[in-house]
Amino acid sequence: MNATPMSKALDCINVLVVDDQDCLVDLLSDIVEGLGFSSEVAHDGQEALEKFQGGNFQMVITDIKMPRMDGIQLTKMVKRDRPDVPVIAITGFGNEEAGEDLRSEQMDGFLEKPFRIAKIEGMICEVLRGYNLIY
Ligand SMILES: [Mg+2]
Repeated sequence: MNATPMSKALDCINVLVVDDQDCLVDLLSDIVEGLGFSSEVAHDGQEALEKFQGGNFQMVITDIKMPRMDGIQLTKMVKRDRPDVPVIAITGFGNEEAGEDLRSEQMDGFLEKPFRIAKIEGMICEVLRGYNLIY
């Protein structure tokens, strides 16, 4: 898959990456920046919500299981205020039932850990295209 996006304004796409595992949040941030976008990181849902509300983000990529506030609650809060911002969820307890729950919670994409880098790159671009944020 060609993961190089044609962006309307690459430097205007700022992605909030959220995971309580340092190595994963760093990897996800590198993936996002490798696509030419900007990223900021948070380590739980509460920190993410504070950053989201105080910042300017075009996408959120979030873990589900995190301390203080989980990714499902974070998604609800993000979508309540900003339904125009896509959310991709990444979860470690993958099963079909969890996937169903996530889809019903307005998530725009869903990946199970461990994920292939090409797969998340493809999903990020597909979701951004769906929201007309990149070509
Ligand atoms: Mg976690």
